[in-house]
Amino acid sequence: MAGIKQSPWILHYDASSCNGCDIETLACLTPVFDVERLGVINTGNPKHADIFLVTGAVNEQSKDVIRNLYRQMPEPKVVVAIGACAATGGVFRECYNISGGVDSVIPVDVFVPGCAARPEAIIDGVVRALAVLEERQRDTAAAAGSMDQVLYLRAQKSNAPQILALQKAAYQSEAGIYGDEGLPALQQTLEELEDEFDRRPNREASSLGARETRKDPEKDRDHVVFLKAVVNGRIIGAVRGYEVDDTAYLSRVIVHPYFQGMGIGRRLTEEIEKAFPGVKRFEIFTGHRNERNLRQFRKLGYQEFKTEPFTPAITWIYLQKERP
Ligand code: SF4
Repeated sequence: MAGIKQSPWILHYDASSCNGCDIETLACLTPVFDVERLGVINTGNPKHADIFLVTGAVNEQSKDVIRNLYRQMPEPKVVVAIGACAATGGVFRECYNISGGVDSVIPVDVFVPGCAARPEAIIDGVVRALAVLEERQRDTAAAAGSMDQVLYLRAQKSNAPQILALQKAAYQSEAGIYGDEGLPALQQTLEELEDEFDRRPNREASSLGARETRKDPEKDRDHVVFLKAVVNGRIIGAVRGYEVDDTAYLSRVIVHPYFQGMGIGRRLTEEIEKAFPGVKRFEIFTGHRNERNLRQFRKLGYQEFKTEPFTPAITWIYLQKERP
């Protein structure tokens, strides 16, 4: 980590900028600012990069490239959106082919304001990105040192932005497995996620997954329940579920890629099961090639009972278990 801090490697990508922010980014490397003297290296290889600098709004052509580059970067990694366009779409926001800022496709850790962003602000953004890298390292050390450091709590609607960013980070690898960006988890917007906190489940319309409507819309227990895994105040995992009749429908067991393989997903599943003490049956689903999830759910006693094609590339596998 000390090495990263002293010499962060940066990958710069122009999503569809007017070139104003790109010129300012490259100015950081010129003799006036000369960030290389501080150890900052501009690399063209995502596999060597620690910090992803993106300029410009995201359009139909650039969004797949952004996801692809992000996926190739090793953990821990930080994304910095430079300028108004990368933050929100900026002056191009209403254009027919613009999907918005960089956070419409991948989670963003640091936003650098400006049109164009000034070199001093960009360097400040990189310094803030280093602080994020350091935090991530500290959180991992805390979680690895003792799983007691990870708290499993009920999530609130105010947590929606953090959960959505986590969801987009966690599902990148799944999209990579299928070569399909159409996963509902990657397409979900903040408004839709906030609606889930407010809404009683209606499985016909729900982005959670399957079919079937609720039994009694007046019962509190029909609300969607969100749980979060927290380390040092930061959300690193989440899961959601709701109850219909005697069944709890669970979905989106998500863990930040940097914290995967530590048993956090398993514990989230166990904790959300406890949130539905009255049900007789649990149901969960995952993509047919997600071996990690399938293995974990089987270990927890779930058994496959049906499959359902979602897209030509993805088939959902539904698993169930009776309450012991
Ligand atoms: S923020 Fe301004 S300078 Fe930067 S890419 Fe957008 S329009 Fe160009």
